[in-house]
Amino acid sequence: MQYEAPLKDLRFAMRASGALDAILALPAYRELSIETLDAVLGEAGKFFADAVAPDNHTADKEGVRFDDGRVAVPAAIRNAWRQYAASGWAGLHAPEAFGGQGLPKVLAAAVCEMLNASNLALGSGLLLCDGAIEALLLAGSDEQKATFLPPLVSGAWSGTMNLTESQAGSDLAQIRTSAMPDGAHYRLRGQKIFITFGEHDITGNILHFVLARLPDAPAGVKGISLFVCPKFLTDETGAYTLRNDIRCLSIEHKLGIHASPTCVLSFGDEEGAVGYLIGKANKGLEYMFHMMNAARFTVGMQGIGIAERAYQSAAAYAKVRVQGTPAGASPAGPMPIIEHPDVRRQLLTMRAHIEASRAVALTIAAAIDAANGSHDPEERARQQHIAEFLVPVHKGHCSELSVEIASIAVQVHGGMGFVEETGVAQYYRDARILPIYEGTTAIQANDLVARKTLRDKGRVARDLISCVRSAASELKSSADEELSAAGSLLTDAVQRFEQALDWMLSRATENLPESFAAAVPYLRLTGFVLGGWQMARALQHAKRERTREHADTGFLDGKIAIAQFYLDAILPRTASLLFEVTRGSAQVLRMQAVSF
Ligand SMILES: Cc1cc2nc3c(=O)[nH]c(=O)nc-3n(C[C@H](O)[C@H](O)[C@H](O)COP(=O)(O)OP(=O)(O)OC[C@H]3O[C@@H](n4cnc5c(N)ncnc54)[C@H](O)[C@@H]3O)c2cc1C
Repeated sequence: MQYEAPLKDLRFAMRASGALDAILALPAYRELSIETLDAVLGEAGKFFADAVAPDNHTADKEGVRFDDGRVAVPAAIRNAWRQYAASGWAGLHAPEAFGGQGLPKVLAAAVCEMLNASNLALGSGLLLCDGAIEALLLAGSDEQKATFLPPLVSGAWSGTMNLTESQAGSDLAQIRTSAMPDGAHYRLRGQKIFITFGEHDITGNILHFVLARLPDAPAGVKGISLFVCPKFLTDETGAYTLRNDIRCLSIEHKLGIHASPTCVLSFGDEEGAVGYLIGKANKGLEYMFHMMNAARFTVGMQGIGIAERAYQSAAAYAKVRVQGTPAGASPAGPMPIIEHPDVRRQLLTMRAHIEASRAVALTIAAAIDAANGSHDPEERARQQHIAEFLVPVHKGHCSELSVEIASIAVQVHGGMGFVEETGVAQYYRDARILPIYEGTTAIQANDLVARKTLRDKGRVARDLISCVRSAASELKSSADEELSAAGSLLTDAVQRFEQALDWMLSRATENLPESFAAAVPYLRLTGFVLGGWQMARALQHAKRERTREHADTGFLDGKIAIAQFYLDAILPRTASLLFEVTRGSAQVLRMQAVSF
């Protein structure tokens, strides 16, 4: 099934969520016109749909080859990566000073969705390059920026993130890789596992961003530093030809993303891998968190991308697969399965989740743009806090939803969903990594509870609650009955969010483990409320647009139906999630480990 870039939907979401207005009002983007944004979006859509998406299945079937330390990726991945770099997509959001285009995150997020819909394995490698750029911009020295940023931004080199060790997965305090000072640089020794695109044959060099400990470092997370270790070092002529002491020992055989190499890397088997300290010693985790925040946002976008592709397959299949007479159909006789109410329910469920997630994602991207580009320092700080609060919600919620949506797509295909030819089974397999890497859903939820909710005593959460509440009140006072009903549904949902927040804050002082037992349901509840907020805005926007002369009524009626379905049928999930938060967590803790 051919992937079609959802340009019309993306443009609608940008307008309805207010992300577009927010961006064009920023001083940094005053020169930018809607036409330019539209043109870039259109070009990206064409590139990913025509040049990358068609090879998704063949690249997955071909997989990655490992031979004595060398890793060969499928030809389609190599070509797509190089074309992506040559067309300038790698530097879309990067600063112009380093060869980027300095375009807003809102646009980059939309492009990122299409990239990951076209090939999630390719996207998994490229997301780490963005993270590497972020880390250097945050903490790199001027020399490191001048040396490493231009080839990363142009896509000539790639970047990796080396956190995980066999004993240090979610718990990075256990990291053991060591770094010994050696003149102007350091010598690293240790083994990292699960390193995405840790070795490959696409780019001229690979910059490994590695978490390691200095000899005198304090124990735990306060003793971790960040280093950059290039695969190739310079020879006497300044060319990058000397192999650093880094070896790929093996690659993993995985459930999905078969075209993405997942490597075991050994640093320093011989003289020690040369590494350069990024920023200050022992501040590595802080920098890595910055890099991870960017990467976590992207993983949320990967979820939306793969969900959109799975949805498109399911919708196309449902229109051509003829099976059975739908209840009440006349004349009786077999019809395409899309005529069965339950198939439509499944398609609409997928579509509503995707549209809500996309709108929330664009809102976060707009907050990131405002945090970087607003002229008012107070507003910059406020937007930064909002974005930081929302990133774990987006990562956790969208990645979990992507698995649910891909699973529904398999279901719509019936038996054909369970065999590989239709491609939909691949989406399901591929999506399954998203709630795991860049921190599992539980780790996102712990971050949301501990760092984003309890630390500031719910201040940012209350800021968001008041935004949602004022949107709900505006809708409630509308003369349009549907809008007013939407306002009531949103009011109920935001009330539940507030109740969950109050419970979280009070339980944390009385019984902290209960707060963490409720962390994932609290994250999901927040995700659904934000989705409801955005779908209410979409409903309002679609209705307003529909009154214009020459309105695209067919398209807008679809938007109204999707938003209304979200508010009526999906948003009420917040009620059961509130029970899970406030009642379920005590039961979770009541059951002792020995009873399992
Ligand atoms: C395909 C793939 C690509 C990857 N790419 C990279 C990469 O490029 N770089 C890199 O450094 N790593 C990478 N990883 C590693 C990935 O980030 C880790 O697998 C992930 O963080 C989880 O760590 P773990 O596997 O050790 O699981 P564990 O930490 O052992 O977790 C097992 C289970 O326990 C739960 N758990 C653990 N701690 C807590 C807690 N405090 N609270 C609640 N629940 C908890 C988890 O949620 C999970 O369900 C990749 C992994 C895969 C599979």
